[in-house]
Amino acid sequence: MDFEDIRDQFPILQRQVHGRPLVYLDSAATAQKPECVVDAESGFYRSINAGVHRGAHELAALSTMAFEEARASMAALVGAESREGGEEIVVTSGATGGLNLLATAFSNASQGAGGAAARRFALGPGDEIVVSKAEHHSVLLPFQELAARTGATLRWFDLDDEGRIRSDMADEVITERTRVVAVTHVGNVTGAITDVAPIVRRAHEVGALVVLDACQSVPHLAVDFHALDVDFAVWSAHKMYGPTGVGFLYGRRELLEALPPASFGGSMVELAWMDRPAQYMAPPARFEAGTQPVAQVVAAGVAARWMMEIGLDRIEAHERAITAELLRLGDVDGVRILGPKDARDRIGTVAFDVAGVHPHDVGQFVDAQGIAIRVGHHCAQPVHRHFGVYASNRASSGVYNTVDEARALVETVGKVRGFFKV
Ligand code: PMP
Repeated sequence: MDFEDIRDQFPILQRQVHGRPLVYLDSAATAQKPECVVDAESGFYRSINAGVHRGAHELAALSTMAFEEARASMAALVGAESREGGEEIVVTSGATGGLNLLATAFSNASQGAGGAAARRFALGPGDEIVVSKAEHHSVLLPFQELAARTGATLRWFDLDDEGRIRSDMADEVITERTRVVAVTHVGNVTGAITDVAPIVRRAHEVGALVVLDACQSVPHLAVDFHALDVDFAVWSAHKMYGPTGVGFLYGRRELLEALPPASFGGSMVELAWMDRPAQYMAPPARFEAGTQPVAQVVAAGVAARWMMEIGLDRIEAHERAITAELLRLGDVDGVRILGPKDARDRIGTVAFDVAGVHPHDVGQFVDAQGIAIRVGHHCAQPVHRHFGVYASNRASSGVYNTVDEARALVETVGKVRGFFKV
């Protein structure tokens, strides 16, 4: 598959916007979907739609098989275990769902849920939770709430001038009282790739758990959670060419086995009584109460296999070339890049500020040329404050983008200040 063929697989890229061919540079918000993913979701409803893990009929068996195959594909994509009795992948409603699941489960453990085995997740006054200023609100807020509920203290990594998480400060920021460290793998504003190793090393030295937000790394890089040695990780299918409404939580098997559930309902109990507490199932089912988004998971599995078929190394090389071209925005008069200047330190996302022009005006100006970028604070206000701005413009790539498209954005942004006469 060459990248021109890959692009042809995206039906939406055939459409025009304001009479011009669509240049979609907003994949960090959500990626477009290849035909095989669209077909997988509609094909599921056409031919095998049924609930999973609970029916004795043929369709239930087929849908269960497709659902578990998808889980295994997702595990293969991120270097996780997926075999009966060794599941490390939990289906969630998205990265936000996965992070809230963890924070709620830790909060439940702090109140005694899960018994002695879950005590390693319990937090109380004097304990510390560490995040970073680069976090998406989906990481910051659940862990801030967790700190407030348990009496733990929230601490954070500062960022360097180019918005990189100061991993070199791990020995100071992570202390003997730290119990949880939650950081992003790739910044959704800066595109900066976090140097995870010193954080993991220090966290494990003091017995803390590491939660990795892999939303912006899984779509662009070969990610291996075992090699990274993180304890938990979350990501969303819709940013990696899969459907909306579904995401995944990776957890080291022995941790998932000890973690108490965060939500309760059908398909997560072995035994339920009126007068005794329920006996919960083993993971991953324990964390998947209710009817799962089966068609979406099946289609997400197709997206994972499709990415592996292209090859993660090829995807990374392609996107690095586009990122390098997008960084030429920094050569435009009055434009400031928020994030590392060196293309080797980042992937996929380039946020920028145009002096004297509000991001919404920039967004509308480039939209009139058929170019879609995101404007605003991208659900990451602290990192914007770090750069002394309230909001920014953000261009972000996918496998379907071309270097020519990145060049078109740079040229268009070059006309913005003249148009607005600043
Ligand atoms: N973390 C990062 C780094 C993100 O970019 C996003 C999505 N913008 C999220 C978390 C939340 O993902 P979702 O909205 O799909 O739950």
